[in-house]
Amino acid sequence: MTKKVRVRFAPSPTGGLHIGGLRTALFNYLFAKKHGGDFILRIEDTDQTRFVTGAEEYIEEALIWAGIPYDEGPNKAGDFGPYRQSERKDSYATYITTLIEKGAAYYAFDTPESLNFHRTDHESKGKTFIYNAHNRLKLDNSLSLSKEETASKIATGTPYVVRFKTPENTTITTSDMIRGSVSFKTDTLDDKVLFKSDGMPTYHLANVVDDHLMQISHVIRGEEWLPSLALHTQLYQAFGWEAPKFAHLPLIMKPTGKGKLSKRDGEKGGFPVFPLTWLSSTGYKEAGYFPEAVINFLALLGWNPGTEQELFGLDELVATFELERVQKSGARFDPEKTKWFNQQYLQMSTAAKILPEFKKGVLAAFGATAIENKSDRVLETIIDLVKERATFTHELIELAAYFFVDPTSYDQKALKKQWKENTPEIVAALTEIIKSQTDFSSANLELTIKNYISEKSLSFGAVMPPLRLALVGALSGPHVFDIMEVLGKDRCIERILALGNTAKDL
Ligand code: GLU
Repeated sequence: MTKKVRVRFAPSPTGGLHIGGLRTALFNYLFAKKHGGDFILRIEDTDQTRFVTGAEEYIEEALIWAGIPYDEGPNKAGDFGPYRQSERKDSYATYITTLIEKGAAYYAFDTPESLNFHRTDHESKGKTFIYNAHNRLKLDNSLSLSKEETASKIATGTPYVVRFKTPENTTITTSDMIRGSVSFKTDTLDDKVLFKSDGMPTYHLANVVDDHLMQISHVIRGEEWLPSLALHTQLYQAFGWEAPKFAHLPLIMKPTGKGKLSKRDGEKGGFPVFPLTWLSSTGYKEAGYFPEAVINFLALLGWNPGTEQELFGLDELVATFELERVQKSGARFDPEKTKWFNQQYLQMSTAAKILPEFKKGVLAAFGATAIENKSDRVLETIIDLVKERATFTHELIELAAYFFVDPTSYDQKALKKQWKENTPEIVAALTEIIKSQTDFSSANLELTIKNYISEKSLSFGAVMPPLRLALVGALSGPHVFDIMEVLGKDRCIERILALGNTAKDL
């Protein structure tokens, strides 16, 4: 029987979740759902010094907003909890004892001062201090000390850490679902600390123990964790556990393609790097992005379906996603493209979906009176008329302003150009025609006004631009007759008269 797919997103609550983190969560989610598996959220909060209040809540809210909820996690009980490592802290000690007994780990008593001394001493010689087989017998640990000395240090309360005993001069070869075979030479590896003097496990120990206990089948995480794979592989071997399969996702690169995308790039380039606002950094949500658009562009950061298709709903992503199609090389982040995605989702959205936010925006911008005589159906028509030119929902408010308030000024250049000698006569005739209509539908208005134009042998250019200027204040906007139908007879007439009054003084 093949193992059930169980994946986890394991962030440390050290700050707001960057979009790179959200992409990791997404790829885990897609992989889990594609294989009928479980998506788990595990909070890796063993490093108390880096804990940031509110970060865990932020992570959960971001997953909810993105529409990728977890199956098991801090606020959703499962069979493998608790899902916060700080709540599991008592369970790690037995595993460290096991490793020590197996000879795979050892106590180290070196003080921070002595380690610092070695580090700076090496640096001054242009070298890097590595704590491993080549020098560990010269350092202060249970391998260099006798059994009795070690026991007495522990008994007298000398602070210690537990380090992994990296084998000497060995090559560790393992495989990654994205990168293929990966090898590490142990001589370049540190004997990493597994257990700290504060009685807490480090990321490495807690991560491996929990992945094992939670029966994680696949570890999908960012490329920055690839170097840890050497130790993790050895830990699984030392415990005698079957390791999960690993997949390290490519980095998300700056828009220039050089270097990893950072918070500062967002500040410089004026684009969000967080899904939700975090401290002073505006989030994608608050910038007006649809979560569906964010999910869509994140999915394509490092993965491609092998076709030209760019627009994918979440279900479609689940169906199409394959880890084998994730690239090894960094994925360049393109802020302009994120806007394009949002624009596409706005165009695909129904007016009914946009209506609540649109209404709120209109109320805030133009007050209650602007909206009081407009039904939801009319508001939806307005949305449909203007949305073509918008990328974000909030842009609709400005684009639709003339449906709610009469123009207070006119595009002067256009007015001067369009207001000709016979224009007063034309607008007077238009006013009469409009007054006499009982059917104020766009189609009827179009027919009637076009008839008038041909009967009088006028040109469209003599009639339509002044009419549009009167209604919109500028020569932009959707089909004039559609605008007229929404505005209604009275507003159309008043606006035409108002333009006439202004133009008098030209
Ligand atoms: N706690 C690590 C992080 O903050 C988890 C890395 C992993 O998935 O193993 O990303």
